[in-house]
Amino acid sequence: MASGITLSGVFKRFGATEVIKGIDLAIEPGEFVVLVGPSGCGKSTLLNLVAGLETLTSGDIRIGAQVVNDVPPRDRDIAMVFQSYALYPTKSVRQNITFGMQTRHVPRDRQEAALDEFSRLLQIDGLLDRKPGQLSGGQRQRVAMGRALVRQPEVFLFDEPLSNLDAKLRIEMRTEIKKLHQRLGKTVVYVTHDQIEAMTLASRIAVMDNGHIRQFAQPHEIYEDPVDLFVAGFMGSPP
Ligand code: ADP
Ligand code: MG
Repeated sequence: MASGITLSGVFKRFGATEVIKGIDLAIEPGEFVVLVGPSGCGKSTLLNLVAGLETLTSGDIRIGAQVVNDVPPRDRDIAMVFQSYALYPTKSVRQNITFGMQTRHVPRDRQEAALDEFSRLLQIDGLLDRKPGQLSGGQRQRVAMGRALVRQPEVFLFDEPLSNLDAKLRIEMRTEIKKLHQRLGKTVVYVTHDQIEAMTLASRIAVMDNGHIRQFAQPHEIYEDPVDLFVAGFMGSPP
């Protein structure tokens, strides 16, 4: 079972600067929503609001039926994967993956079972005793994914997870993320600036500009029937 995400009238200001300017968005359980838009338009801020890493200026965010505005990140049933993998450099791969489960007091046998299942799925089961410094970029990104997966949350948030990888790895990981989503059926919000990634992964694409969502629709609709010139220029087919 997965939870949907509902944003209603969401605003976020940093000091005098309004960054999120009234967003309404209803993401269905199990959907794979890709968030695109120019640098600085507020994509990461929006993810951080859903994760609880930033607090709303006004509006409501629901995960499933629960309003989570005042729920701290660790109680939100969410896992987030960033572009900079943010692994603990002195801990082993095994410790990096299980650390979140330890702090949440998951029983030892369940930790072991989850570590076993997901490290095999991500093909990092042979690397568990290494430190992050002994891994390639692609392997590190898999460890970061493993750390998110073992928590088995209802919602995954990805902030440009593949943009530090070379083109070949990016395509490989994109395929794996798609397979993982089909297998696990969790709700995903995924930020990317890669148009092909957006078109191949998304059940729906949200095109963002300057704190607003300009269009939220299936990839083919965005491509064939953009609502305005901004969306056409950013994601659509050439006129
Ligand atoms: P994106 O991820 O789309 O590139 P961000 O959400 O990172 O955009 O940033 C949107 C805007 O908010 C930018 O102008 C950025 O400078 C500003 N911003 C982001 N985080 C903060 C912060 N903690 N304090 C002040 N301004 C911020
Ligand atoms: Mg960003």
